[in-house]
Order: sequence, then C-alpha cells, then structure tokens
Amino acid sequence: MNSKRRILLIATGGTIASQVTDHGLKPGLDAEQLLSYIPELADEFLIDAVQVCNIDSTNMTPEIWGQIVAAVEAKYLYYDGFVVCHGTDTMAYTSAALSYMIQNSNKPIVVTGAQKPINEVNTDARQNLIDSIRYAGDPDSQGVTLVFNGNVIAGTRARKTYAHSYNAFSSVNFPVLAVIQEKKIIRFIPQQTYTEPVHFSYRMNDSIVVLKLIPGTKPELVEYLFQNYDCLVIESFGVGGIPQSLQETFYEQMEKWISKGKLVVMATQVANEGSNMEIYEVGQRFKEDFHLMEAYDMTLEATITKLMYLMSICGRNYTAIYDGFYKTINYDILSRS
Ligand code: ASP
Repeated sequence: MNSKRRILLIATGGTIASQVTDHGLKPGLDAEQLLSYIPELADEFLIDAVQVCNIDSTNMTPEIWGQIVAAVEAKYLYYDGFVVCHGTDTMAYTSAALSYMIQNSNKPIVVTGAQKPINEVNTDARQNLIDSIRYAGDPDSQGVTLVFNGNVIAGTRARKTYAHSYNAFSSVNFPVLAVIQEKKIIRFIPQQTYTEPVHFSYRMNDSIVVLKLIPGTKPELVEYLFQNYDCLVIESFGVGGIPQSLQETFYEQMEKWISKGKLVVMATQVANEGSNMEIYEVGQRFKEDFHLMEAYDMTLEATITKLMYLMSICGRNYTAIYDGFYKTINYDILSRS
C-alpha cells in the first residue's frame, strides 16, 4: 500500500502561474505545469492537479469561490489536503471566503501564491508551493489557511501588506498559526476540535459595499449606497464613529432601511487592533440607537466575506445574522467588548 499523503492542487492563476507578454504579466501556466517546477515533492507526496480558472486574481468573484469549494468537495474524501494556487491581490479575500464556505474541515485547505512567477530564476513561487504542500500534507494540519513566505496564517486573519516583498502577508490581530522552516512545521496554536462534520456552502450574497470615510464625505453618497445595497460596511476612522455632517442622513436612511432588513456594519481603517464604537460620543449613541454590528478585531476581508456568507444563509433575519457575525469561525473574531 502506498503511504504517501495525497494532495490536490487547485490552480486559479495569479502571478505564480504568469508568463511575460507584451502587455505585462498574464496567467498562462496550468496546474500540471506548476507541478513540473517542484518534481522533488513526488518522492514524498502523491499530487494531482485541477484547474478552476486561469485569471489574474483582480478578476476573482464570489462565483469562482463557489467553483473552488466545489473542487474541494468533489474530491474531499480522496485527498488528505488541498492547495489552492491564487494571485496575491485578492488572496486574503479568498482565504477568508473559503473559511466560511468550508467549515469544520479536519483536512487542510491551503491558499498560496507568489510575488514572482514560478518560471523566473529568482522567485518565491517554488518555496511557497513546497511549503504549502508540506503543510497540507501534514496530518496535524486542518482548516483554511494562507501559507506564504514560511508563515501559516489563519484564513480569516490574512492581509496583503506589502505590494512587492516576498513577505507580502501579515496575520492581523492574531498570531501566525505556524511557521515552516525547511521540512519542519513549528506550530504555535493548538488544533481545534470540530464537533460538527465538514460543511460546504456555495452561495455568497454580494449585495454589499464598503464606504471608506474621508474627511468631508458627502451625504448624497450615503443615500445612494443605502438604496442600492443590502449591506453597507463603513470603514470609519479610529475606533469608529460617524461624522456630524453625515449623521442626519444616516438617521434618516437607517430608519427607512433597517426595518426592511438592510444592514450597516462598522469597521475601521486603522490597520491594527480593531474598532470599538463605545469609546467616543461620535460612535456610542449611533451604535446603541440602531443596535449596530461592528467588526472589532476582524479584518475587512473577513468582515465582508462573513457578511456575504451570513446574508446568503440567513436572508433578512437580522437576529440570525447578528448572532452569526459574532460567532468565532477560524479565529476570525476575538475581542467583543
Ligand atoms: N495581480 C496578481 C494577481 O493577484 C498579483 C499576484 O499574484 O501576486 O493575480
């Protein structure tokens, strides 16, 4: 009997699979070609590959997330781990989305990519792919993670913080789960125990928009967003508040729309430590009057994709969405004051 661990590589494109063209880098290598750059792993793992799409991740959509989930579900029983090759630009959104769309997985689903194409001499692609397969092939790994530059980050905690460096991703408001050094995986966070079976879900309600406040944001914009989207995430300043100049419009719009099941969620533009609307008068009253949700220490990527997921399964049931939003999934939220 073959005792090698079985890995399914799911390719979606990105820089890792890109080739030089007259108009800039463009994904062109397919899943099998990616594997041809890491022949040494064939001694340790049985690796098969499938192609879901071959796109720059700028073009990623919730529909394609559904196709990635379907690729994992279709082969879930046959493989010990899954590696999704992806562009770095929207990788943190995808790792967060998959954290909600694939829950309670004792098998690892690793999202990875690279800052340089795998066919270049100086590239981080080979190492990231090798690390990801090694992590996905380890019996102690589980759940959705993003592996990059030797760091294993919970799928909901990743954020692209460097545009060019190999150290492209940070784990925001949460420690890295593990680091990979050569063949060794050094784990910092113990495994979770799932009491429920693995669960796959495909639909994401994408009627959601982010309003990043700037000094002087115009009230007309707020009105338009309320009218056209089911969920408005406000990326506010500091720990969270609504400027005086917008308050009248917000009150008017919220009274009109909240009873129709529309949602407003407060997040912050500050990179670390998260929101807390209760601290300042500009936030507290507003939060209390409308029983608002806030992201606290969640990343924006996790906030958005968690809401897409919850809106798709709970419809307009505000209480179910509210309770679901504050339930921790894949380490996404810790502090709730
Ligand atoms: N534009 C590329 C993408 O996200 C960047 C990368 O993969 O690093 O697909």
